[in-house]
Amino acid sequence: MTKQYVEFTTDKRFIRRARALKTIEAMVRMYCRGSGHRERAPLCPQCAELMQYARRRLERCVFGDAKPNCADCVVHCYSADMREKVRTVMRWAGPRMLLRHPILAITHMLDERRPVPTLPARPAPRSAQDQRR
Ligand code: SF4
Ligand SMILES: [Zn+2]
Repeated sequence: MTKQYVEFTTDKRFIRRARALKTIEAMVRMYCRGSGHRERAPLCPQCAELMQYARRRLERCVFGDAKPNCADCVVHCYSADMREKVRTVMRWAGPRMLLRHPILAITHMLDERRPVPTLPARPAPRSAQDQRR
């Protein structure tokens, strides 16, 4: 079967991930500007790298649109150094979000109250599927 690829930021099935992307983008932008980083276009190279990394993680999130907030996740797919960087951004931008981006901040807080999914079951290995036929 041919695999289907869709652009998650514009596909209604992926609204939650699209919102998570908007939230992290807003936080990184605020952090970069507020911390006076140089060479912003609109992000400095370090923040742009972090943003690109976060976007890739979201695109490949094993939970799809049922994803929890990354801070609550049982998988934690970020590398240790990127996780530390994103935590620094969250610590700085988190308290400012309610004023600057109230809707994103409130939906993020509501997401925090939702149950956190456990790891999705892996599909059976190909050989096991063949044996069942
Ligand atoms: S940390 Fe968890 S929720 Fe966040 S992108 Fe990675 S797997 Fe998905
Ligand atoms: Zn920056």
